[in-house]
Amino acid sequence: MFTTDDITHKRRETMHQFTFAKTRSQPVSHHAKERQPISEYFGELTFGLGQMRDKLPREAYQGLIRTLEQGKKLTKETADDVALAVKEWSVAKGCTHFCHWFQPMTGLTAEKHDAFISIQRSYHSELGVMEKFTGGQLIQGEPDASSFPSGGMRSTFEARGYTAWDPSSPMFILEGEHGHTLCIPTVFFGYHGEALDNKTPLLRSAQALSKEASEFLKLIGDVDVKTVTATLGTEQEYFVIDRSFVSKRPDLILTGRTLLGAPSPRGQQLEDHYFGAIPTRVKAFMEDAEVELYKLGVPIKTRHNEVAPSQFEVAPIFENANIASDHNTLTMDVLKRVAIRHGLTCLIHEKPFAGINGSGKHCNWSVCNDKGENLLDPGNTPHQNLRMLAVTTVVLKAVFDHCDALRASIASPGNDHRLGGNEAPPAIISVFLGSLLDKILNSIEKGEAAKATEQQIISLGVSQIPDISKDYTDRNRTSPFAFTGNKFEFRAVGSSANVAVPVTILNTAAADSFKKATTRLKELLAKKSGRDEAVMELIKELAKESKAIRFEGNGYSLEWQKEAKARKLPIFDTTVEALEVFNTPKAIAFLVDNNVLSKPEIESRYHIAVERYVKTVEIEMSTCLEMAMQYVIPTVESQLVAMDAAHKTLSTTTAKKLHGARMEALEEALEQILTSHKTLKSGLEKLHEEKSEATKAKTLSTELMEHMRKLRAACDSAETMTADSLWPLPKYREMLFAHTIA
Ligand code: ADP
Ligand code: MG
Repeated sequence: MFTTDDITHKRRETMHQFTFAKTRSQPVSHHAKERQPISEYFGELTFGLGQMRDKLPREAYQGLIRTLEQGKKLTKETADDVALAVKEWSVAKGCTHFCHWFQPMTGLTAEKHDAFISIQRSYHSELGVMEKFTGGQLIQGEPDASSFPSGGMRSTFEARGYTAWDPSSPMFILEGEHGHTLCIPTVFFGYHGEALDNKTPLLRSAQALSKEASEFLKLIGDVDVKTVTATLGTEQEYFVIDRSFVSKRPDLILTGRTLLGAPSPRGQQLEDHYFGAIPTRVKAFMEDAEVELYKLGVPIKTRHNEVAPSQFEVAPIFENANIASDHNTLTMDVLKRVAIRHGLTCLIHEKPFAGINGSGKHCNWSVCNDKGENLLDPGNTPHQNLRMLAVTTVVLKAVFDHCDALRASIASPGNDHRLGGNEAPPAIISVFLGSLLDKILNSIEKGEAAKATEQQIISLGVSQIPDISKDYTDRNRTSPFAFTGNKFEFRAVGSSANVAVPVTILNTAAADSFKKATTRLKELLAKKSGRDEAVMELIKELAKESKAIRFEGNGYSLEWQKEAKARKLPIFDTTVEALEVFNTPKAIAFLVDNNVLSKPEIESRYHIAVERYVKTVEIEMSTCLEMAMQYVIPTVESQLVAMDAAHKTLSTTTAKKLHGARMEALEEALEQILTSHKTLKSGLEKLHEEKSEATKAKTLSTELMEHMRKLRAACDSAETMTADSLWPLPKYREMLFAHTIA
């Protein structure tokens, strides 16, 4: 057991470290770039199409463009030319190594570094070293990848995994202390071409979307459309706290969230943090991170305080979804790295602190054609408006048909603490359109526009659509999927998610819906007299069929839960329930039909997700048990020993009585801690005997989660009754306020 002195010492040490960190890291920025206009250095560490156009021989550049635009195979000569150009560029910038940068299904990014050097034997057999990089090395790599999760798709004797260059995403340089590394964005796949990463399905879904949406657009009159692209803008939320606190908290170190901790008397009640002035120390960190991101070509646009204390947001200007997805993983990485330089820790977990808002990542999504026109943007002509309405209803139908898969795509143990809480969108997928668009679709649905010509469409109020983007004022923060003027905002995505996963599902759902709409429109065109009339009829049918997914009210309310049930919308409260969608043939057929994920690929993803759930929650529970046993229980005992000694010295009966009552309350809390500890511990031990991962996950998410909740409640209650000087863990009030108020 700790002595009181030890613990007091520990606590003082924590505070000392904190004070030290605070003075030490009034940071001098690592970059002098802030003073230069951003445009001077934006993207200076990237090698994308712009640089290639400048540096490649004409022939090679055109070859590359043919690959990108028409899917033509990249020739060896072109690959060699690109490799030479990028090697010269990156070596001149101080690169010593290159790596194939990929996104395995762990949800993180992975890198395996190789030096550029190659050994040459001279005429006299002397060994010489030179920088070398070939087209072959650029295009394909074979990391020893047997330890990446494949969900059973690769047996270890066939453990080969390959990486292949994705030319559509720019290469970039990651700066290191002693030399830089050229990172080549790649896909990661197995021997038989099976996707082992999150990027491959995203690229396939983009292809499917482009194909199906283009067909549809041609049919409604955009005859010259060549490609359709998904666009994505991610609003990344995160917490920043002083690093010295983290080193004192096993839960933050091991799980990224606090598993214990009584609420701070001040949380977010004052609502003063949202959009408030950014604390100086955090602002210095943000600026530093932004400079790094600008150099990497990430177009960061917005930064602000979020709702909870110590919570912030960063958002870029939207880009092609594949690039935006890569840029978001880079952003998370840069935020974490730069925070360390500032004596801070950036927490990207969905729920680092109980009782205050968690963090999400709003995925703003739209589709645009090869002229750069946003297809969800109401335009200036009746045709553009009709197109906007058609595309909107196709997307509505996509969300309606595949709401279960969309829900499953955002399922993670972290997001479970957020979805359905009184702060985040509910775990039910629904779409908020806003009153104007809602009204327009309702009137079309009623048949008022059944025989509409272009003129009539206008008289029905469609002519007001162009005003939506300027005029729409109604926002609904409770909706998981909201139309916001000229894009949809998927708000239920968790802050730590790899957005490639939900965007793949969204793209494919849309592709599938466009495909079906095309078939139906062809039939309608055969029946109706005019094209616009047929399109209006399709809009009407789609709006009608997808009506159940539309909800304009308060998504946090209990009535909505009941209403959603009555509408037969799927409700999956936990990850474990949601993941079963990937086990349901009907729910996943659209992924297979559109060649985005094969059945074995989906199966493997399901297994990996269940296994990750089990491992993550087991780690959390073991950490919680350890903290209770090694931190909380000894501290409470020390407090009781101290109280016991004090009790004897009290002279009056009243004092003794009051003091006795306090001791009793603390003893009760200790008893509860010990009981819950025992139940959780034996529950976890019993789980090891269980063979089925799915059963394990279920037990963890229900029974054992409840035991952990009880253990925490008892520990938190004990915290409130123990002397501050004894408590060994940094407290909520310190972690959340110390560096932002100062
Ligand atoms: P909010 O009011 O939700 O903060 P913003 O206008 O700041 O909305 O935009 C949020 C994000 O949406 C930004 O990343 C922005 O670039 C992105 N966005 C805007 N238009 C589109 C679009 N057409 N497609 C995808 N994302 C978009
Ligand atoms: Mg937003």
